[in-house]
Amino acid sequence: MDIHHMATNVLLRDPSIDWTNLDNHRKAGGFEAVKKAFSMDADEIINETKRSNLRGRGGAGFPTGVKWGFVPKQSEKPKYLAVNADEGEPGTFKDRYWLRKDPYPLIEGCIICAYALGINTTYIYIRGEFLEEIRIVEKCIEQCRRAGLLGKNILGSGFDMECWVHPGAGAYICGEETAMLSSLEGKAGQPKLKPPFPAVEGLFRCPTVVNNVETLVCIPLIIQNGGKWFADLGTDRNGGPKVFGVSGHVKRPGLYEFPLGVNLKDVIYKHCGGILNDRKLKAVIPGGSSCPVLTPDEIDIPADFDSFKVVGSMLGTAGVIVIAEPTPLIEVLLRIARFYAHESCGQCTPCREGTGWMVRILENIRKGLATKKEIGLLMDAATKIEGNTICALGDAAAWPVKSFLQKFPDEFSRYLVDAA
Ligand code: SF4
Repeated sequence: MDIHHMATNVLLRDPSIDWTNLDNHRKAGGFEAVKKAFSMDADEIINETKRSNLRGRGGAGFPTGVKWGFVPKQSEKPKYLAVNADEGEPGTFKDRYWLRKDPYPLIEGCIICAYALGINTTYIYIRGEFLEEIRIVEKCIEQCRRAGLLGKNILGSGFDMECWVHPGAGAYICGEETAMLSSLEGKAGQPKLKPPFPAVEGLFRCPTVVNNVETLVCIPLIIQNGGKWFADLGTDRNGGPKVFGVSGHVKRPGLYEFPLGVNLKDVIYKHCGGILNDRKLKAVIPGGSSCPVLTPDEIDIPADFDSFKVVGSMLGTAGVIVIAEPTPLIEVLLRIARFYAHESCGQCTPCREGTGWMVRILENIRKGLATKKEIGLLMDAATKIEGNTICALGDAAAWPVKSFLQKFPDEFSRYLVDAA
């Protein structure tokens, strides 16, 4: 994975240094934010996080400080922090960077979050295929334990927190927070209806904060430099820098750090060097495979959680997939549709049956066996899945189908038996 440092340069660090070495991390000021947090009130930490306008980096973009505020202060039950490191969305490869190359900022973020919310146990749920990353994070946790940075009486503060890695078993759906918590409990990773939300009743039916890796990586920066500093790095209501993973038909794919609100067209043409072999741009999926696709006319916009809504899409995980001519979009959509059909957990009829129907209709279109009626049927299936399922996988399967059909109708109609 190529790493490119751009503009803000605070999340991605100098790649020539081994950041999995605790000494290197501490020499660069590591754990100073934790020390500072221990001198602050819990409310001060939560308020500083709210002031930072940090929005969850797992895709939904919910304000992190507000989410923390939902956890009850007083609880007879233990409270938990569950870190969502089950990065499985096609086109998304940002969290893997910290897990593999720079895990200590994540551990610091966990300690600060846990301290602010009165949590003594953290689970880091790492995607099962990330074997190397699991080993590295476990090694770093052990180094922290030996240095008195995890476990009992961290840095002499009187605060205790233990941290455990829990590997997933290869199911995409375990990236959904309630499925992840079920998996952590040793049950099948199947999503649950909300409410109750995890902040009130999560892991082992106890209050639980679920945060994404990148979200927690931002926390030591916020504590060290202040919420306002972080907020000022982004745009209104979209605080801070963000790591973008750009893949597909660009000259320089890789990880890039930008302030939120960076222009998406500039990301592709300026920072990533433009389209591979100077071909014509055909389509852009802006934030992981579930996000509605954009046409080349729609990409001259700020990349933040609010601006993408104007063009009917989402920032998601900022996993930008660039598609150039002459890629047949039916092949792209079919691949996406097969993925979601395969990963459906099967609890909800619209998702379990509908995702399979969508794949079969798309296959018939591609084979030249379908009529205009089937395009209507495909749209109808997607519409009936959307909003009618327990978790967001149903929407994630429906949105690409609807957006590709709406924005690129000719890419599908030309295969029809009764094409005009
Ligand atoms: Fe399972 Fe799909 Fe229902 Fe989510 S929407 S709970 S993945 S069947």
